Amino acid sequence: MNLFGSYDVVVTGAGSSGIVAAIRAAREGAKVLLLEGTGFLGGLITGGRLTKPTGLINSPIFHEMLDRCVGYKGADGRVRESYWGKYTGTFDAEVMQRVIIEMVEEAGVEVLLRAMVVQTVMKDNSVHGLIIRTKSGESLVLAKAFIDASGDGDVAALAGADFMLGREADGLTQPITSYFRVLNVNVPSLIADCEANRADMWEVVYPKEASNRNEDYVMAVLLTGFQQRIKDKVAEGFDWIIPKDHITMKTGLIPGEISVNVTRFQGNGLDDRDLSRAEIEIRKQAYCAFDFLQRFVRGFEEAIFLEVAPKLGIRETRRITGKYTITEADVRGNGRFDDAIGLCNSPVDVHEPGGSRAIMDHVGIGYGIPYRTMVPLAVDNLIIAGRCISADAIAFGSTRNVPACTMTGEAAAIAAALAASRGVLTSSIGVADVQARLRELKVWLGTPGEEVPDVLKQAS
Ligand SMILES: Cc1cc2nc3c(=O)[nH]c(=O)nc-3n(C[C@H](O)[C@H](O)[C@H](O)COP(=O)(O)OP(=O)(O)OC[C@H]3O[C@@H](n4cnc5c(N)ncnc54)[C@H](O)[C@@H]3O)c2cc1C
Repeated sequence: MNLFGSYDVVVTGAGSSGIVAAIRAAREGAKVLLLEGTGFLGGLITGGRLTKPTGLINSPIFHEMLDRCVGYKGADGRVRESYWGKYTGTFDAEVMQRVIIEMVEEAGVEVLLRAMVVQTVMKDNSVHGLIIRTKSGESLVLAKAFIDASGDGDVAALAGADFMLGREADGLTQPITSYFRVLNVNVPSLIADCEANRADMWEVVYPKEASNRNEDYVMAVLLTGFQQRIKDKVAEGFDWIIPKDHITMKTGLIPGEISVNVTRFQGNGLDDRDLSRAEIEIRKQAYCAFDFLQRFVRGFEEAIFLEVAPKLGIRETRRITGKYTITEADVRGNGRFDDAIGLCNSPVDVHEPGGSRAIMDHVGIGYGIPYRTMVPLAVDNLIIAGRCISADAIAFGSTRNVPACTMTGEAAAIAAALAASRGVLTSSIGVADVQARLRELKVWLGTPGEEVPDVLKQAS
């Protein structure tokens, strides 16, 4: 088989966690290859148009990414607050893509797009190589250390790691949702409608200075509700084909641009037939929701349907079983861990598997993410980053958010780069070394006794 190349660190998956991991590992001095199955960088945060991190950003690389987006007038860098807690930054997907390309190139990361990892090469229980499938066929990639940031835990599963899928009772995962974007909305009029129907809205966030200009609301509006209106219109005969009973919207970078989160498809994000059906069903739902908005919500009268996000919004697939599985009690109880690598205040955000409801529960000052959640039980030389770390189904509602994904990317990169530089397997790296480097980088770890950052102390 053709040898594609030999590296210090190979990162699989160029979503938020993989991008952060690749840049951090390269900045730590490693020769890095970033493998990505699609033709673009950013995974869900660009292709899925998931441009609002839920929680405070604690990853220095991701902070820098947001700051650079702000520099291009493509992000709102302010700390904001909603009923589910504080969060940093809403950004534009294409500006983020530009920043990612810039930072990956500056760091010297080699990127290979349209390259799917299809097999692992093992020595005993440790990963030593990957087989990738590209347009040219199959080739071998060798490295000293590996990071699985595929979201689906593909590398870990191929290597034989155990994993959890869905909730314990019935194995159902959180549903698949793709955002769709609409242009030419009259945002002041939309906000006035929400205020006039406040009882039917549970989130109405917008800049309080009154204005009639769409320009004053870019990237600063969050609206959730419309439950009663949907019920009433269905009773009057509207054909609402969407298995979700409310709508969430946010403004984008373009004045009058609204991103809508309402579509919902229950299926297995690892199953080819489900994936194909989801692509079509979700489009049909998006057209239905657009018709509803145009007919029944003020501000949408002249709206134009721009797009359904090109990357399917898969919330949940495998959660790789690690040396520790973070639990709902840890997340809700402000858990602190000796091996924590990042303090996370992302809410428990669970879209009911098989149902229509969603919860978004505040976790106060947050919890530490244990490094052991990133270390698969029986597979060595592989570290997990991103949404597939070891978490129970409810804790996952928090750890799947971008702030947590990017923190695990930082920690995975430091551990992998250390392993490569020392010529040892990743299991030989003690978490104290990873934490020492993260402290130097000013990451809040979430260890016992660590001072809570001021911004979180003030959390309501
Ligand atoms: C509808 C929806 C709404 C959301 N809303 C929010 C929100 O408001 N706030 C928030 O913070 N989070 C939100 N999230 C969650 C968050 O966006 C994701 O969990 C997070 O971006 C995942 O990052 P990741 O790097 O783990 O995975 P991904 O972004 O999924 O990236 C994984 C990458 O790996 C690639 N890949 C997969 N398998 C392979 C393989 N075998 N070989 C090579 N490449 C591979 C994929 O193509 C992909 O690019 C939402 C998610 C969804 C779906």
